Amino acid sequence: MTDRPSGARTVRAPRGTELTAKGWQQEAALRMLHNNLDPEVAEHPDELVVYGGTGKAARDWRSFDRIAATLRDLEGDETLLVQSGRPVGVMRTHEWAPRVLIANSNLVGDWANWEEFRRLEALGLTMYGQMTAGSWIYIGTQGILQGTYETFGAVAAKRGGTLEGTITLTAGLGGMGGAQPLAVTMNGGVAIVVECDASRIDRRIEHRYLDARAESIDEALRLAVEARDARRPLSIGLLGNAAEVLPELLRRGAPIDIVTDQTSAHDPLAYLPAGVAFEDWKDYAAAKPEEFTRRARESMAAHVQAMVGFMDAGAEVFDYGNSIRGEAKTAGFERAFDFPGFVPAYIRPLFCEGKGPFRWAALSGDPADIARTDRAVMDLFPENEHLNRWIRMAGEKVAYQGLPARICWLGQGERAAAGERFNELVASGEVSAPLAIGRDHLDTGSVASPYRETEAMRDGSDAIADWPLLNALVNTASGASWVSIHHGGGVGMGRSLHAGQVSVADGTELAAQKLRRVLTNDPGMGVIRHVDAGYPEAEAVAEREGLRIPMREG
Ligand code: NAD
Repeated sequence: MTDRPSGARTVRAPRGTELTAKGWQQEAALRMLHNNLDPEVAEHPDELVVYGGTGKAARDWRSFDRIAATLRDLEGDETLLVQSGRPVGVMRTHEWAPRVLIANSNLVGDWANWEEFRRLEALGLTMYGQMTAGSWIYIGTQGILQGTYETFGAVAAKRGGTLEGTITLTAGLGGMGGAQPLAVTMNGGVAIVVECDASRIDRRIEHRYLDARAESIDEALRLAVEARDARRPLSIGLLGNAAEVLPELLRRGAPIDIVTDQTSAHDPLAYLPAGVAFEDWKDYAAAKPEEFTRRARESMAAHVQAMVGFMDAGAEVFDYGNSIRGEAKTAGFERAFDFPGFVPAYIRPLFCEGKGPFRWAALSGDPADIARTDRAVMDLFPENEHLNRWIRMAGEKVAYQGLPARICWLGQGERAAAGERFNELVASGEVSAPLAIGRDHLDTGSVASPYRETEAMRDGSDAIADWPLLNALVNTASGASWVSIHHGGGVGMGRSLHAGQVSVADGTELAAQKLRRVLTNDPGMGVIRHVDAGYPEAEAVAEREGLRIPMREG
């Protein structure tokens, strides 16, 4: 391959029980960094891009090599500092401190826009970390599958508990969007997913997230209606540009019940404008970024206008956290915000309980370890049928990408119980090597993102960004193995601040103590954030779980 970027090569996480670093926390960071760039996991590994447009794991290949070498050498009382994907220092700390502290893509308020970011990126001074790309806990499309399953489950709940007999129309089969077809079929429905990159359609079929591909709008509609009428779940990938296909489907009066979107609209250079050939995308965006951005935004306006048209025709329509409403509004479409974001519509009640995307990866590489943890979760929460159904279906339907991993949404109290149980399984040898336990930044108390996670907060505190910063600080103080603070994930520059944590269950008593604290305090931040914003559901959870909130004492 002559045109690979300098230093690019194929990487994959080490497997097994042998340490290549000086402790399991360092080893876990090393394996998870490699895992993020495993070709099975990353969307564009040669460019170090993991998912979400240009979300990267390290700034460049030299930085990757220096991070890996430093992690192998790092002592159990040292901390590696990573600034936007580049290792910039090693500090003496202590054994309760994180082994890695990461800050990605942060810019001062007035400078926090794509233009300035790209100028700095071109100078080699920063990188876009997305959420779990730059914080080394992306686990492939399964990571978002559970959240998407929860969201479509909530849509189904409004229709008697199932999506049977409905057609969902959406776009984008990338790292995140690729979860949509399977989440719809797991809830019994039919999905048509528009995607302009044929290789993404093939990849989702290969990974069993997508059932079929249609060569034309007519074929997609015929397959969808047949399956809907037979009340048979089916997902169909349709090659095309969403900004052209959605208006056309609306014009034809297509029988669509639910509409959303997961193209990479948060980054105008990662959204293909109508009329631009897929093959010309990269060169055109690189040569004329301003013109490309203007055309992408105009196309998003047409795309969102069609979504509003479906809403007017009676469909359930929601924004799936990619900022497409904001971009369409910028392009001058006044009704862009007529439909809601998915968080206020479906997810906030779960956030009030401290619920969010808890996930773990088996550092051994052995799927039997995840099977053992799956049983442990079902044993811990036998009364939670929704959770048990998910774990069973995930075991059957989810093909692992990279290290075997699992995700399920757990709340306050539940996460700590699961983490402690996992640590016992490692200690007893029932699980063959340590587990890395983390989460998405899209969580209950770790993000400020007014177009997504904190849209329409009850007290109007949508843009208050103290919460994710406190979240990162409290996880650092509680014993997490690595902690990250990012800007711009999910919805783009200037629109979000968010934090992540990963903690390693290595079977030691020290790990048990750290896990108890981190997995209590991390979701606890979400509960107190929602109490502060005036949600009674969160107040009930705080009381039940004994969370102390000074303003409610005395
Ligand atoms: P990605 O870049 O991996 O995939 C985006 C896909 O959209 C690509 O396959 C691309 O070919 C396709 N696309 C772009 N323009 C198109 C067009 N005009 N018509 C049809 N297809 C087009 O990104 P991803 O990781 O899948 O994330 C998708 C979006 O969802 C991002 O904006 C991301 O920030 C957002 N997101 C949402 C959530 C959530 O919970 N809802 C979570 C994470 C990310």
